[in-house]
Amino acid sequence: MIFNQFFDEISFTFTYLISSGKGREALIIDPVLEKTNDYILFLKKLDLKLVKVIDTHVHADHISGLKELNKQTNCTTIMGDQSKSEVINIRVKDNEKIKIENIELTAMFTPGHTDCSYSFFMKDRVFTGDTLLINATGRTDFQNGNPIDQYHSLFEKILKLPEQTLVYPAHDYNGNKVCTIDKQKKTNPRLQVSSVEEYVSIMKNLKLDHPKMMKIAIPANIKGLTF
Ligand code: FE
Repeated sequence: MIFNQFFDEISFTFTYLISSGKGREALIIDPVLEKTNDYILFLKKLDLKLVKVIDTHVHADHISGLKELNKQTNCTTIMGDQSKSEVINIRVKDNEKIKIENIELTAMFTPGHTDCSYSFFMKDRVFTGDTLLINATGRTDFQNGNPIDQYHSLFEKILKLPEQTLVYPAHDYNGNKVCTIDKQKKTNPRLQVSSVEEYVSIMKNLKLDHPKMMKIAIPANIKGLTF
């Protein structure tokens, strides 16, 4: 299997490329518009055919590369059913499978960070978008985010995955690249709560500034603007 984690140092976004091997089909999760050329070069170098591109949710902090990749490669664009994006070819529901050749991802509806957030589970790893970050969780204070929904998405879905499952988030601001469910259960400060109320109170007291790109990125990602 080919697996590559790209990093955008401006928005601190991770993008993932998965393929069963050289000369085969490929899939990309959470591409960043400005990094499109890097993905295209990587695909060319390994003679990969990009067939599917997924966004875990409508991003507020960067412009997605989903539409540009679709323009350049004719790949299928995928998001969860609840997404407000107007440029999606396939909308997946909870537990639906996404396949490329012998690789299979299971869509998990994990709302909370936004009302359209999905995670994608693949054998030994899970792409958690901004639902579960390494030692944090995604903020829940805009885009119809909801800390109660996020608590349920975390504790009833993501943390129920096998303990050794690798956690690959959509962002990291502290230099982490991957972790495991087990380690996050034990050390993620936001997960050391004993009730939904305690979790909600943590999330409601984060007092974060809105992302700089928010006013541009959300409408651009809904309309599929590529500038
Ligand atoms: Fe986000």
